[in-house]
Amino acid sequence: LNALLSASGTTVFTVMSALAAQHQSINLGQGFPDYEGPADVVQAAADALLDHRNQYPPLAGVPELRAAVAEANRRFYGLEIDPATEVVVTSGATEALAAALMALINPGDEVVLFEPLYDTYLPVVRLLGATPRVVRLSPPKWELPRAELAAAFGPRTKAVLLNTPMNPAGKVFTAAELSYIAELLQRHDAYAVCDEVYEHLTFDGWKHIPLMTLPGMRERCLRIGSAGKTFSLTGWKVGYITGDKSLMPNVAKAHQNLTFTTAPNLQRAVAVGLSKPDSYFEGLSTELQARRDRLATGLAALGFGILPTQGSYFITADFSPLGFSGDDVAFCRHITEAAKVTAIPVSAFYDGADAPRHYARFAFCKNEAVLDEALARLKAWK
Ligand code: PMP
Ligand code: GLN
Repeated sequence: LNALLSASGTTVFTVMSALAAQHQSINLGQGFPDYEGPADVVQAAADALLDHRNQYPPLAGVPELRAAVAEANRRFYGLEIDPATEVVVTSGATEALAAALMALINPGDEVVLFEPLYDTYLPVVRLLGATPRVVRLSPPKWELPRAELAAAFGPRTKAVLLNTPMNPAGKVFTAAELSYIAELLQRHDAYAVCDEVYEHLTFDGWKHIPLMTLPGMRERCLRIGSAGKTFSLTGWKVGYITGDKSLMPNVAKAHQNLTFTTAPNLQRAVAVGLSKPDSYFEGLSTELQARRDRLATGLAALGFGILPTQGSYFITADFSPLGFSGDDVAFCRHITEAAKVTAIPVSAFYDGADAPRHYARFAFCKNEAVLDEALARLKAWK
């Protein structure tokens, strides 16, 4: 058996969702909306099922979706992308991440990552025989530690894995931070895998900037998006990678060996979604911002310390002011059982043993009534 997999545990999202189900707890752990995605997109998927185009779609994705991804890159970021050679559709961003890393990495390479980090990154980097170099961002501001980042780069650096907007921190990387990363990539002739699944979920005027739009970065970035987040349809698992045509043949070959393709009706429906007017994308973040504010205000009133969320589905909350004596894992279990509200311990997003242990991640992509009920339960428990 593969020793790395044998040694790793089941993902915290599955563990906490199972615990939530067992205790009939409100699940603010795993990040999925409890409301449906846009009706026209869902209808498009249903229609496409019935039009007898249900066999293997092309390896790189159906032409409509590749064209829509290229057009979205132009509309939102001014990027000129060739849909025929510079887009690959994947089964979710999860596959996209694995395919992008497979496309770039040889055993013995080093990959620079930022902690806290999403839970699939390190296992995939290690399975590919690469060595992770983890740079830690610190709350409450999660600013880029420039000296540490520069020190993490070296002659064996092949890539940086950058997640902005960032899960779980809710941080949106600034133009200045991205420029600094871009400079290092050029100096070390390295690439970037850009996990931008929350690209359209930013708040308070924060704008997502793809690293790929910076000078010199067009040929160095593999940019990943997810229909799950952009259309509140996380079960669909449709992702897309955009990258320079010099990189994409390897991405396509990685995808060919992982899944080869993705359900054609869902691809066609996502093409419909990406063609929606700007008002859809603006409405998505406006609505989510209201949900964020509702939960943040309620948690603050209960005594939690709330860290700012500039983007994503998540609030990081410091529970130490509540006087709970255990760590974050104990706290998240305890509120699941005693208050019937579930959150994710933030230490699950750290590799190092010295992770902070007084933060819980709460997902706010839920109906208002559910957020209110969760707050009422926490109040009654407290
Ligand atoms: N990256 C990040 C940062 C995520 O939070 C998630 C979870 N949704 C993914 C990737 C995976 O996305 P998908 O569901 O499209 O595979
Ligand atoms: N991305 C989701 C989160 O951070 C989880 C997805 C999953 O369960 N694999 O909550």
